Amino acid sequence: MADQNRRRVYLFGTGGTISFVGENRTDFANYSYQGSQLTIEEMLARVPEANELAEVVTEQVINVGSTEVYPNHWVTLASRVNERFATDPGAAGAAVTHGTATLEETAYFLNLTVRDARPVVVTGAMRPPSAMGTDADNNLLDAVRVAAAKQSAGRGALVVLNNEIQSARDVTKTDSYRVETFQSGHMGFLGYADADGKVAYYRRPEQRHTADSEFDLNGVDQLPRVDIAYAYAGADGTVIDALVEAGVDGIVAAGLGSGGSPSPFMAGLQRAIAAQVPVVLATQVGTGRVVQTRRFMEQGYIVADNLHPKKARILMMLALTRTKDPAELQRMMLEY
Ligand code: ASP
Repeated sequence: MADQNRRRVYLFGTGGTISFVGENRTDFANYSYQGSQLTIEEMLARVPEANELAEVVTEQVINVGSTEVYPNHWVTLASRVNERFATDPGAAGAAVTHGTATLEETAYFLNLTVRDARPVVVTGAMRPPSAMGTDADNNLLDAVRVAAAKQSAGRGALVVLNNEIQSARDVTKTDSYRVETFQSGHMGFLGYADADGKVAYYRRPEQRHTADSEFDLNGVDQLPRVDIAYAYAGADGTVIDALVEAGVDGIVAAGLGSGGSPSPFMAGLQRAIAAQVPVVLATQVGTGRVVQTRRFMEQGYIVADNLHPKKARILMMLALTRTKDPAELQRMMLEY
């Protein structure tokens, strides 16, 4: 029988593989453009055990594949989570179902904009609920379990798939089809939603997030536009010049190795800075920091430390709602 003292969890549906129904049990690849979709209520109905862990209140925000999730959806979702927390002191936490393609981006946005210590847990699936060996039901159950757990509070937005609890800041998708796709590189994951039903943590993120964030969506109608320019051998400044011409508010360079790129590409970045467009240097290698070398500092770059270029972009979009001062932008880049 369900525990009458169970805690309340808000479960937000946004779509993704976790919601798609394919043609048959071996449809692992075509479901997202040939199948139909479950609503968040239908997804929860497949996992009645979740109602024993928490009083689950569902809310459908959107129902799309996550390649169709845009920054305005991040704002809507974060605002809904903030509203639920503000109006319900009894809520234990929130869980979000999401496509895996852009899951880490939405999770990091929530990490910076949900202004509450209660957990917001994002999950998805690599195999649709209609497929053999689906991870949809387990991941949904684990997301509710982690959102309901007292010990999840104060760790920022979390990503839970494959029984692993990851920090939204560090996690990235590393494989196109494997269920163990979400990894946090050298940082590792934070804990397990494990086989005995326990939520077990071993550490917490050090960077600022959620309740300790300075970013506020109130009054923000439109997020600043920040784009990513990807470097490679022989890359020049064509894309960078086009971005400046298009009127972007900031640029993140996904540089080579420790953040440098071919000189024609760097010359394009210098033209952007001269045109008052702030430039963040990140690295495309996956782990490790971009540090303030003498050259980078003299040339006016902001560095991303060990933030993935996609996360550096999101942080810049929010930072630019507060300031255009390069020293302040650099401070924020290092603190979150
Ligand atoms: N196409 C899917 C998406 O919505 C992929 C997934 O969810 O795994 O991102």
